[in-house]
Formats: sequence, structure tokens, C-alpha cells
Amino acid sequence: MQVNPQMKRVIFIVWLILVPAGMWYTYESHPPHISGHWIDVLAFLLLTCVIACMPIVINEMFIFLIQWVALATFLRYGLFVEMVFAQVAVIALLLKLQILRKGQLFRLPLNLIMFFLVSLCSGLIYYALGGQTRPILAEDTTSLWLGILYAFLSYLINQLIISFNLYFIYKSKQPYFGKDFFVETITTLITFPIGFVLYILYNQVGLFALLFVGAPFVSLSIIFNLYYSSEKINEYLQKAAEIGHQMAERLQVKDVIDLFIQKLGEMLPVDYAYILEANEDELILIRRMEAGKVQSNDLPPVKKNEGISGRSWANQKAYLYSARFEWRGLTSGRIPDDAESILCVPIVRNRKVIGVLLLASKRRRAYEKFQLMIIDILCSYFAVAMENAKHYEVTKMQSERCSLTKLYNYRYFENLLNEEFEKMTRFARKNLSLIILDIDHFKKVNDTYGHQSGNEILRDLASRISEIVEVSGTVARYGGEEFVVLLPDATKIEAYQMAEHIRQSIANRPFFLRQSFDYNQQQVMITASIGVATALEDAEDPLALIRHADRALYVGAKRAGRNRVAEYSSC
Ligand code: GH3
Ligand code: MG
Ligand code: MG
Repeated sequence: MQVNPQMKRVIFIVWLILVPAGMWYTYESHPPHISGHWIDVLAFLLLTCVIACMPIVINEMFIFLIQWVALATFLRYGLFVEMVFAQVAVIALLLKLQILRKGQLFRLPLNLIMFFLVSLCSGLIYYALGGQTRPILAEDTTSLWLGILYAFLSYLINQLIISFNLYFIYKSKQPYFGKDFFVETITTLITFPIGFVLYILYNQVGLFALLFVGAPFVSLSIIFNLYYSSEKINEYLQKAAEIGHQMAERLQVKDVIDLFIQKLGEMLPVDYAYILEANEDELILIRRMEAGKVQSNDLPPVKKNEGISGRSWANQKAYLYSARFEWRGLTSGRIPDDAESILCVPIVRNRKVIGVLLLASKRRRAYEKFQLMIIDILCSYFAVAMENAKHYEVTKMQSERCSLTKLYNYRYFENLLNEEFEKMTRFARKNLSLIILDIDHFKKVNDTYGHQSGNEILRDLASRISEIVEVSGTVARYGGEEFVVLLPDATKIEAYQMAEHIRQSIANRPFFLRQSFDYNQQQVMITASIGVATALEDAEDPLALIRHADRALYVGAKRAGRNRVAEYSSC
């Protein structure tokens, strides 16, 4: 929530005028009854600070339960002491939460004003109704009843001021009476009776009362917080397991990385995320996410022991930093200037670091230790999912590509052709053209330069054709030295033009042999004959399209003298 600078100034001025004057007035009109009880008062103050520094944390929400101590202090020592204690408690609490950083300092006067107003209003109403604050009220039942009223009043005024703050200062649009409100109301009301117990017991046994009441309360707060943090860890573990399952279902490397980054962002405050992959002696960036956007991976590789990720890789160790000054001297300058918290975890598979994950947040203390553990678990899920996806991609590539030319193989082409024909029958495609190419006298090339050199030519030829076709179609190796190009939506004229372009690019430029028999680089000129057919013009089913393109190749091009393009209809 943002507060504008002018409003912050107003808050400081209001505090400066209101609080000291109000305190002086209170001191004068309702003087405290301390006489001789200085040690007791200090003990009360200590208890107030301890309780203030131990908020109960539920769902990231801090609940401060100092009202019961304030109630006992008020009934025993009067409004002024309670007021001073409340101010000290606020300072202790804000110091403990370390929120008094640059830009947040206005929260101190704001909270001091708030607590002052709550103390003043509820106290003055109590006095106005005839309530007393003094050592023993046991026989004064009116004051006890008024004490209960005071407790409710102070809670009510507190809530009113919070809603005023949210609305006018923080300009929050969130509904105020949410779940947090009810949790806070219930916990506060439950603790009020403890305030009465403390007051009554203190009057009877003195300082021991603080121990009898304070110690169990503090212990309970600690147990409660431990319980909630273990609940939170449980919740994170469940989430991590779920993410692990989801990642395992992804078959593409890119999808695994996308999901990993997305889920990390949902679980933790992440402004910058980097995934680096380890090769022999460097970490290569494979994903860079900054301010919610994927950025290019063109940062230079990281060496072992270089920067935070290089150290994490070398030492197989995770690192957690809460503020910039902790890591400023360690970085190699790739992390943005406004990052504060950093979480860097090695990605380990079979006891070997295969990569490094680095997360950063602009907030200080954005990450907790237990989150490091969760991310460590997630990183091992990620490592397995990446290995599976890579394996799948390689297997898939091997099953549908030719190992020599890296073009699609006949199996892939056949499926694609059927799919494209299906689209034609659904009228999603108007034309489908097929080019078949066969190298002329290739046997002779093999005989003259050797089979390896023949392979080299096939490889170069494959990339020449791919460069020409680009995204307008699919190139596949049909058989030995025969290639096909499937062109969806290409008319016969367009297909013919492309075939002619391919033919010329073969016939007009020599192929260079690196592995020829003699060790000089050899140049070879070859030609190819090409057949073209277009559906539905020339064929109404996939097999007919292949047959007719093939016929154009052999009858129209080869027989007619080779090194030419022929279309089906003309032969
Ligand atoms: P033409 O097509 O002009 O009639 O004559 P050709 O010599 O090219 O005859 P054909 O197409 O029938 O012969 C194919 C030759 O291609 C046979 C074989 O030696 C060669 N060949 C097929 N596959 C490969 C391969 O993977 N590598 C090499 N180096 N040669 C291959
Ligand atoms: Mg041939
Ligand atoms: Mg052939």
C-alpha cells in the first residue's frame, strides 16, 4: 500500500502536536498512582514489551495481543501509565518487525497516534462514566463492570481507527470485515479476561502475578507460532509435491521451465529469476525472468566460483541473503541494482550439480530459511523433470528425424501428409503441393568421391533446401537421395517456382567435400530432377499425390533429360 509524501508529512505534524500535548493533559487531569511502585511499574513495562514483540502469526498476518496487559495496567496505574506503555509497546514492536526502513518511517507516528487515541478515548469515557483506576477495585463492582466496558471500547475504537487509516491514509479498497478481522476480534476478546486475572492477582500477590499470568501466555504464544510455522511448512511441502507432479507431466523442456518459474513466482516473492545450466566448465543461462517478463538469455556464462551462482555450483551449497549489503561484494554484476533478498540453490541430480537457480526480490528479508529447503526439494523435482523432458525430446527427434541430414524422416512425412489431407477434406486448406526431388546420377558421385563424400553432399543439400523452404513448408528425406517438400496452401504455380528455385540453387553452386580421397578441398557440381503435384487438382488422396509427383519426377524430368522441374499435368 502506497502513501503519498504529503500525507506522511501531515502524519508527522499531527503526531508532534497531538501526542505530547495529550499526554501532558492526561498527566494533569488524571495523575498516575505510582507512589513507591516503580519496580512494579517497570516489570509491567517489561511484560508489555515482551508481549508486544511476540505477535501471533496466522496466514502472514500479525496479531498483537497486548490489550490484556494494557487493561491491567490501566486499572491499576491509571490512564497516563497505560498511555506511555502503549507508546513504548508500539516502538518495540515496530523495531522488532524492522519496518522502520526508508519510506516506512511514517508508520511510527501513525501507530503512535493511533494507540494514543485509543488510550485517550477509552480512558476518558471510562472516567466520565464514573470508573476508577486504583489498587483495589474488588469491592467496587461498578468499576469492574466499567472495566469490561473499557476493554470493549478500546477494542472498538482501535478497529474504528484502523478502518479510518485503511480508507483515508492507505486508500485501500479491500473489504475491511474480512477473515483477518474476525480472527483478530476473537483472539482479542478471548485474551481480555486474562487482563482482569492479572489485575486481581497482582493486587493479591504482587509481582508474582506477572510471572503466573505472563509466563503461560508467552509460552502459549511460542507454541502457537511453532504450530503455525510447521503448518505453513506442511502447506509448502504439499504445494511442492503438487508442482513436482505437474512438472513430471510436462514433456517439453520449455514447458518444464515455464511451469517451474511460474510456480516459484506463485509461492514466493520473486522479482528476478534465473535458471542456469552447467556444462563442462560454465553455467549457461537458460531462463531469465525479470519483473514478470521473460528476457533474452544473452548474459555471458558464469565460471565456477564466479558470483553467487558460481559459488553455489562450486560448493554445492544453497545461499540465502536478506539484504543487499550481505552479497554486494560477492556478485559478478549480473544481478539488478534494486535486488535485496537472494535465494540461490544448486540443482542437483545424482549428486552432480546440473544447474543453479537464483531468485531475487526487491524486498529485504523476502525469503525464510524453511523456504530454502522447499526450493531445494523443488529443484530436485525440476532436475528429474528436465532429464525426462530432454530424454523425451531426444527420443522423439530420433524417431522422426533422419540422423544424417536432421530432416524429418519418411514416417513423420507420411503422418503429416495424412493430417494435411484431412484438413483439406475439412476445407481448412485449399491447396496442398508436393515436391519430390531426386539427385541425378548420384551413384556416380559415390563411385567417384566415396560414400562419405556422398553423405556430405546429402547433408549440404538438405540445408540448402531447408533454407529456401523456411517456414512455408516441411522438408523431409524421402529415401536414399530423394527429398520431399510439402507445401500447405501453395498453388501449383507457387510450388513450381519453389522447385525451380531449389533446382537452380543445386545446379548453380558447387558442393564442397571435406572428406574427399585427396586431401585438397574438392568441389562437386550436381543436378537434381524434380516433380511437382498439387492436391486436389492432381490427386484426391495422399498416396495419389505422392505417386503423381513421383511420376512427374521420373517421366517429366528424368526421362526428359534430368536437371529440370516437371509438373504432373504436363506429363
Ligand atoms: P538417376 O537418379 O539420375 O537415375 O541416377 P542415380 O545414380 O541417382 O540413381 P538412383 O537414384 O537410382 O540411385 C540412388 C543412389 O544413391 C544409390 C546409392 O548409391 C546412393 N545413395 C542412396 N542413399 C545414400 C546415402 O545415404 N548416402 C550415399 N552416399 N549415397 C546414397
Ligand atoms: Mg538419383
Ligand atoms: Mg533415387
